[in-house]
Amino acid sequence: MEQSNAKRVAVVGGGIAGLTAALRLAESGYQVDLFEAAPALGGRTKSFYDEEVDEWVDNGPHVMVGAYHATLKLLGDVNALQHVRWQSSLTLSLWDKERGLFDLKAVSWLPVNIALIWAAYRLPEHGLSSVKAMLRLAMTMVNRDEEQTVQQWMDEMKAPKRLIEDMLEVLCLGVMNEPMQTANAKTFARVLATSFSSHKNAKMGWFNKPLSQALVAPIADKLRSLGVNMELRHSVRNLGELNHDAVVLALPAFARNRLLGINEEVETQAITNIHLWFEERIALPNMMQGMLGTYGQWLFDVSAMMKKQGGLQHLCVIISADESDLPQQTLIDLALKEIEMMLGKKLPEPKKVRFIREKRATVLVRNTGSVDLPSHVFDAVEAPSSGQLPATIELAVISGEKAARLVHLSHKINT
Ligand SMILES: Cc1cc2nc3c(=O)[nH]c(=O)nc-3n(C[C@H](O)[C@H](O)[C@H](O)COP(=O)(O)OP(=O)(O)OC[C@H]3O[C@@H](n4cnc5c(N)ncnc54)[C@H](O)[C@@H]3O)c2cc1C
Repeated sequence: MEQSNAKRVAVVGGGIAGLTAALRLAESGYQVDLFEAAPALGGRTKSFYDEEVDEWVDNGPHVMVGAYHATLKLLGDVNALQHVRWQSSLTLSLWDKERGLFDLKAVSWLPVNIALIWAAYRLPEHGLSSVKAMLRLAMTMVNRDEEQTVQQWMDEMKAPKRLIEDMLEVLCLGVMNEPMQTANAKTFARVLATSFSSHKNAKMGWFNKPLSQALVAPIADKLRSLGVNMELRHSVRNLGELNHDAVVLALPAFARNRLLGINEEVETQAITNIHLWFEERIALPNMMQGMLGTYGQWLFDVSAMMKKQGGLQHLCVIISADESDLPQQTLIDLALKEIEMMLGKKLPEPKKVRFIREKRATVLVRNTGSVDLPSHVFDAVEAPSSGQLPATIELAVISGEKAARLVHLSHKINT
């Protein structure tokens, strides 16, 4: 997309959606000013430096899946693909008190329906009832009702309790960050269909550096090389401040509503991360360990993921869709007890603990409809609706790219 007589575009918000929009616009020859309220770029994918442990720490570890095609293309465009480490095919290592460790594995070369059935069949102590329920589920993935919840779909499928606990609830919480009772069935069906659909898609990956270096810095470097002006600590409070030809709003939905004076509630869900640093090495069964029937659902060996040699060992416990009102210290104590239960041994005293609860970690999938915007303003706001991807890095990249395309299209129409 070559653009002569470059027009000025303001991008409001320097998270992944804003950075992507700015990149695609600058590549097309627009003069871009990016405004970010915080002192650093990255939004929810930011990292901060913790002096005490001498380490860059992510707000929370982020997982990628092979089906994040737009994100992978973006990473390729900014020479950052080497910052993601991939599994060869989807394997979730799980643990519960009764059965110990076992794997949820996809057979990636099988068609999606059979891959799901096979994954259920290979779970320990699952009888024919799980296989039959998964068959019914696989056959009803298309044409889900817009308003149906995952729980209603599972009830309709007569999914056995064990299949829900070992597979469906884990996937629903992990990918949608919402309990099955309210999560949208149509979006969940889409997640299942895309994540299990091919060898390329059915795998998980994680960043081998803190997000600020693995993901944010490579995009920001490219933006600088394209002449994008980035203003940090600049909170846009009113659209009238911006005298640009076009404006892209890449804000969280609640901040977009505040900016536009829209009085509408945005439903969000929290994620709690408990970062733990230990002086002695603690051998975990896997770098990413799922735990069932516990408060903490995932345990990440962050040091191993980042191939950190020496120094303190950094573990992180993740509580998805955290709705508990337990005090911080109670949750920390519970998390430590649960790790001890899984490892079957006492843990040493952590050298440092950091508790981060991101209250608005994800916007929930709701059919809220679009917002009326002035004709020169374009939305890159995360507002997933039924059947769309849930709020993820991938949706942010797609939203940023879509807004950049619309700016370009409207410019072409008007010239
Ligand atoms: C703990 C946690 C774990 C997660 N795990 C995963 C995961 O494993 N995989 C995955 O795919 N996704 C995950 N996500 C979700 C993912 O991080 C988000 O969906 C994505 O980063 C959203 O990007 P965004 O650019 O739309 O919004 P944000 O990242 O929220 O960016 C918006 C930016 O706008 C700025 N801003 C707000 N108001 C103004 C204003 N008035 N003027 C200027 N700037 C303003 C904010 O400071 C912010 O930087 C996780 C999120 C969290 C919090």
